[in-house]
Amino acid sequence: MTYSINCKDAGDPVCAHTMYGETEEELLNNAKEHGIKEHGYTEESWNVEIAKNIDHFRKIIKNL
Ligand SMILES: [Zn+2]
Repeated sequence: MTYSINCKDAGDPVCAHTMYGETEEELLNNAKEHGIKEHGYTEESWNVEIAKNIDHFRKIIKNL
């Protein structure tokens, strides 16, 4: 199964980048890399953000 998540769905007003992963864990890792590279997060601030919003993230993750 392939999981995907879209930045726009995650609440970003401009970025419509879509990330994919074979597992939810891989998807969240890819999202983290994107967040750090494109959205100025650090590993630490990303983890805080994810912890705060994990319920929202789970809701917008799509199974393809
Ligand atoms: Zn993005």
